[in-house]
Amino acid sequence: MDQLLLNWYYNNARQLPWRENIDPYSVWLSEIILQQTRVNQGLPYYNSFVEKFPNLQSFALATEEEILKTWQGLGYYSRARNMHRCAQLVLNQHQSVFPEEISALKKLPGIGNYTAGAIASIAYGQKTPAIDGNLIRVCSRILGIYEPPYSRLMFDKIHSFVLELMVNSKPGDINQALMELGATLCLPKNPNCENCPISDHCYAFENKTQSELPLPKKKTLVKDLFMYFLIIESDETIYIEQRPSVGIWAKLYQLPLIESKSELPFPELFQAIATKISSQNFTIVKISKPIIHKLTHRKIIASFITVNLGFEHKIPHVLLVKKTDLNKYPFPQLIADFFSKNHPS
Ligand code: SF4
Repeated sequence: MDQLLLNWYYNNARQLPWRENIDPYSVWLSEIILQQTRVNQGLPYYNSFVEKFPNLQSFALATEEEILKTWQGLGYYSRARNMHRCAQLVLNQHQSVFPEEISALKKLPGIGNYTAGAIASIAYGQKTPAIDGNLIRVCSRILGIYEPPYSRLMFDKIHSFVLELMVNSKPGDINQALMELGATLCLPKNPNCENCPISDHCYAFENKTQSELPLPKKKTLVKDLFMYFLIIESDETIYIEQRPSVGIWAKLYQLPLIESKSELPFPELFQAIATKISSQNFTIVKISKPIIHKLTHRKIIASFITVNLGFEHKIPHVLLVKKTDLNKYPFPQLIADFFSKNHPS
């Protein structure tokens, strides 16, 4: 089966920049960017990272804000911060070269089983499966695995199967061929089995159980979070603040924020604004219609409130910045979208 799979891969794989230059830095960069991100969305980010930071040294020596700024819009910002720490460790402890051993790779920030497997197999040719969502779907269907999703038992079965495929073939190509099959033919809905090179070996195809496999994951509980962003500005300046170093959007910048687990009635909102800006002397000019912004565990209901301060007043713990400098700060996508609509640079 490995030859059928590889022949198909060599003739049909999409041309992607990280497949042209196979080195550990490109594999690491592309694999982390593409976690929970579609190729079309991740590709421009990969290109701009390579352009700004062409090698591991330049990545490691950049500031965290430069990395976050380049990452802006991809979400899951802890991935970008982990990448930065990882690059610094590789620079300082591994002479700028990613280690080859899985155990050493997994000690680096942000590198788990999957990314370690991808680097070790694709960049170093080691026989190591890299099991991501695509491999789970493809292999569950080929083998007819009805184990609980992401269980040890499921991983063990997929691991042994992929290792067998690697016995006489290039390990990195096997991993990539299975990923490519999952991304282009063996899709979650309506897999294109007619064009699949290994349909003759597929349990789900034979038994018409493609839609049952893999078994569904448990649904994540998504909680509401109300965010009231304050627009306090003059013609040239605007107030912004940095988020805490833990939690969602850690260390990114935003408009001064009031956050609540439930919707705030107007008197409470008014009082919360007074507390936030340490003044009772203000007027609310406008409150935008709420915007819904979805994260994995949160549904954010965001409102933008234009506030007029009655007199020259310094607000504690926030920054007064020039609007022309806004493009220097990393913002979550919700705020970046607000600025691009209201203060295009
Ligand atoms: S035959 Fe269909 S279900 Fe089976 S691996 Fe191929 S695309 Fe997936």
